[in-house]
Parts: sequence; structure tokens; C-alpha cells
Amino acid sequence: MSLIVQKFGGTSVGTTERIKNVARRVAHYRRQGHQVVVVVSAMSGETNRLLALAKDLSANPDPRELDVIAATGEQVTIGLLSIALIEMGVPARSYTGGQVRVLTDSAHTKARILDIDQAAMRADLDAGSVVVVAGFQGVDQDGNITTLGRGGSDTSAVALAAALDADECQIYTDVDGVYTTDPRIVPEARRLDRITFEEMLELASQGSKVLQIRSVEFAGKYKVKLRVLSSFEEPESTSAGTLITYEEDDSMEQAIISGIAFNRDEARILVMGVDDRPGIAYAILGPIAEANIDVDMIVQNIGASGHTDFSFTVHRNEYRKALDVLARERGRGFQCREIVGDDRIAKVSVVGIGMRSHVGLAAQMFKALAGEGINIQMISTSEIKIAVVIDEKYLELAVRVLHQAFDLEKSPA
Ligand code: ADP
Ligand code: ASP
Ligand code: MG
Repeated sequence: MSLIVQKFGGTSVGTTERIKNVARRVAHYRRQGHQVVVVVSAMSGETNRLLALAKDLSANPDPRELDVIAATGEQVTIGLLSIALIEMGVPARSYTGGQVRVLTDSAHTKARILDIDQAAMRADLDAGSVVVVAGFQGVDQDGNITTLGRGGSDTSAVALAAALDADECQIYTDVDGVYTTDPRIVPEARRLDRITFEEMLELASQGSKVLQIRSVEFAGKYKVKLRVLSSFEEPESTSAGTLITYEEDDSMEQAIISGIAFNRDEARILVMGVDDRPGIAYAILGPIAEANIDVDMIVQNIGASGHTDFSFTVHRNEYRKALDVLARERGRGFQCREIVGDDRIAKVSVVGIGMRSHVGLAAQMFKALAGEGINIQMISTSEIKIAVVIDEKYLELAVRVLHQAFDLEKSPA
């Protein structure tokens, strides 16, 4: 008997008919003798709908109250799925994040999981019940409802799998695995049977929404066996999807580039004509960090005549806030000629562990983009990634061109 955590995303629980399908799959696993913990998202579109209601009332809604609202989406689906299971004769019990006691910090709308109490879930599992847990949510030390950031149900599932020492964590979604890039943008994208943890982490951090980045981080930390598969195939004949692997297997076919990720959620801020002196990066980014704004790419040019330009990217939701922080700090922590921003940018990244042993990939990437007349505004690299910021309007073209340039539609030889 093994313990399996199964997570179903919004589309997979988008209607009561689909919830019945989920219940059938859970029942199937249970009949095979497994213990099952199910994590569900809100029905598709529901979280957006809830957040839009708050935006109707305020341009800048209080984050604590946003979490109170957003968490209700998942509360509906745990109840519905439990009812569907019970109706099928499968004992089931629903839990909100607070009822499990998924303890998080108090960073509303992007809280981090600190601890999970597994006692109640264990007791239910041992008594033969399916445990149905609301994804995306937790509770802080003071009992406030928190949420884990968009796409956070993936993280709930992996964190529960780690806490319960589950044999496998299965992420069921509307595609049958992790592809070389988003198949909605490139229909020729190819499903990967396996992907290394490092590559998955990089793809997720660069914007591949198939797994939330924190879920991949958790999986790596606790070596959770993690698989992405389709919720739309029959339970008896679901294909194996994509397995996240932790060891590089020499016998494995290994492409140089595994995938392309992209992200439309960023904005670029350029602080022009700042003093080229020690401490300037801190003077600009210190207040940004204090305002709890995450910074992604950072570029500082070599200064000429004592001045330099400094640019960085932030999440688009935090763009206005970041500009406000800089406007406040300007003339206090630092002087500059001008602060300009652009929230119509996109980031495209190619990822592959083969980059470690191959040269010339950046040149190949830049050549492909140049061939389409796409201007590169910023570049950043890591050992296994090259990312560029471009004008948002060229995003889809860039992804398609790069997918082709690196032959990703073909299996590695
Ligand atoms: P869920 O609601 O199940 O969590 P998401 O919409 O969050 O589903 O994630 C699944 C979607 O991720 C797919 O429909 C696909 O459009 C998108 N996606 C982005 N990049 C990839 C990729 N590399 N492989 C597979 N899907 C991807
Ligand atoms: N319902 C949440 C969202 O839409 C969490 C999730 O689906 O993973 O972001
Ligand atoms: Mg998701």
C-alpha cells in the first residue's frame, strides 16, 4: 500500500461533471489499495472572479482581506469533491488549510509554508478515508487566512506530500505533462518523459506555469517523487506524464536545451544617470526590498564620467508600487537624472543542463531573434539558462522562432 498525493488544477475541477471524474480517479486508486490525499484548486476562473470583485471596490485592496476572499474558491471545491466521493461510497473528509493547520508566515497573497500538522490527516487516512485538502491556502500564527500566490495549489500538494512522506505526488492538469514549451503557443511542442529537477526549477522560475516554482523548490528539498499528468485521460489508461528526476542519468537521452519558458508578468524600471559609486545599488534596491518587492533581473552599466544607468525588473503587479518607492527615495538615498519604466515587456528563457558543456548557445539564441528583427533589452544568464527581455508584442514570435532554432520539436538523437 502506498500513500499518494493527487492535485487537480482549476480546469480539472471546472464543472461538477469534471469533479465526478476526479472522484472516479481517486476511487480507482483507492480500490488498488492506496491511501489518497487529494489537493484541489478552485474551479477554473473562480480565483480571478473573486479577486476582480475586490478590485471593483478598491484599486489597492487590503492583502489580508484579499486572502479571506480568494481562499473561498478552494473551500467550495473540497466540499464538492468530498460530496462526490461520498456519493460513490468512498469515505472522504474535506479540510481547509487552516483545518489541517498548514502554518504559513503572514505575507498575505504570497505566504510561505512553515509547517504542516499531519496528525488529523493521518488519523483519517488510517481510518480508511480519503483526505481532501484545499490548495493555495494556509493560516498564520495568529489564525489569519493566508494564500500562497497564484498557482499555489501545486505547492500545497508537494508540501503535503513531503510532510506525509508520500510515495508520489501527482499533479493532474489540462496537459499530459511538461512540454518543451507551452503547447498553447507552439503546437509542435513535445512532451518530455523526464526532466531534471534543476531544469524544472529554472523553467518554473522563468515563468512556465505548469508548476508553481515553490512546488518545485519543495520537491527538491524533500526529494518528493513528482509527476505531471493529464486529468482528462481515463484513470485506467492515463499515460505516465512527466517525471521530475533528481539524478542525471548518463543513459538518458539528453537534449542540450530542454525547454523554453516565458513570462509576461514583469515590468522594467530604468534609473538613469545615477552616481557611479559604491552603495548605489543598495541605495536603489534596499528600499525596494524593504517594501517586500521581489526583483528579478538587474543590469548596471559601467559608468562614464561618474554616472551610470541602473535597470531592474519586478512583477507587473508591483510595478506602480516600485515606482512610488523610487519616487520617494529619489533625492534622499540617491540622485538620478530620470526614472522611466515599461510594463509592456516580456521575458523569454531557454533552459537546459546541456549548456554546461556546450558553447555558442547564447549566440545561437541571439541570432535567431535578430533574424526576426526582435530587439533584446536585457540579458541574464545562469549555468543552465539564457533569458532575454523583449517587447511584449514579439513574445509569441520569439518563442516559436527559438523552439525551431533549437530543434525542440524533435526527440534528441
Ligand atoms: P492547473 O489549473 O491545472 O494548475 P495551469 O494552467 O496552472 O493548470 O498549468 C497548466 C498549463 O500550463 C497548460 O495548460 C499550459 O498551457 C501551461 N504551460 C506552460 N508551459 C508549459 C510547459 N512547458 N509544459 C506544459 N504546459 C505548460
Ligand atoms: N486557485 C489558485 C489560483 O488560481 C491556486 C491554484 O489554482 O493553484 O491561482
Ligand atoms: Mg496551476
